[in-house]
Amino acid sequence: SNRAGFKLMKRAFISDLHLDRTDEDRFLRFQEFLDVESDRMEEIYILGDLVESWIGDDDDSEFAKRLKETIGGASQKTALFIMHGNRDFLIGSSFCSETGATLIPDSTQLTGGLLLSHGDCYCTDDHDYQEMKILLRSEKWQKEFLNQSLETRRGIGRKIRTESEASTATKAESIMDVSTSAIEEIKCRKDVTVVIHGHTHRPGIESHDDGFIRITLGPWEHCGWVCYQDESGFQLKCFNLR
Ligand code: MN
Repeated sequence: SNRAGFKLMKRAFISDLHLDRTDEDRFLRFQEFLDVESDRMEEIYILGDLVESWIGDDDDSEFAKRLKETIGGASQKTALFIMHGNRDFLIGSSFCSETGATLIPDSTQLTGGLLLSHGDCYCTDDHDYQEMKILLRSEKWQKEFLNQSLETRRGIGRKIRTESEASTATKAESIMDVSTSAIEEIKCRKDVTVVIHGHTHRPGIESHDDGFIRITLGPWEHCGWVCYQDESGFQLKCFNLR
């Protein structure tokens, strides 16, 4: 169906917020962002790594509760879509039914040739990462993990993050970036003219000679990042977090 109709919808795309209970400023800025944008935008897309870690929808922590309330409030005013990143791939159907958000798969394609991804699937040169991803996304691993107590899961989550940080520290920058061949592959896909992704923490807009556009969202780290889409095109913006 052509949801875009005659007038293109106003959309906002964000990713890599890495929210956790330790950074109050960032959380408040996120609440403020959703509050404002859910009035202005027809659709908001969170393209992965909304949180630093998600141990399951049954997490009973204050942080998890607060996050669900925040998302729930916004999705009453606008259509809110969530895609998994490598930190929050355990966000599931309970989270969505509790908050009213819609989970969309990686590589969702919207009308107008717009492809959406978290972006880690394009980092094909990082073989260790891709191998680990296959394990963590397997039904078997996830089932076993979710069967553990919340406390055990918090411990395992911390361990995985520490290991990932250690391996990231020793890897060449180029290995952890999107590979050229992965982008070439996207360009070969039928009707894809724009890709928006996050994950690499290298925000920018790359315009190719053939008209193809690649937009990389930034992490909410030194500033917050958002990409807006309206009739005039795409705009990547950063804003203060404090
Ligand atoms: Mn990521």
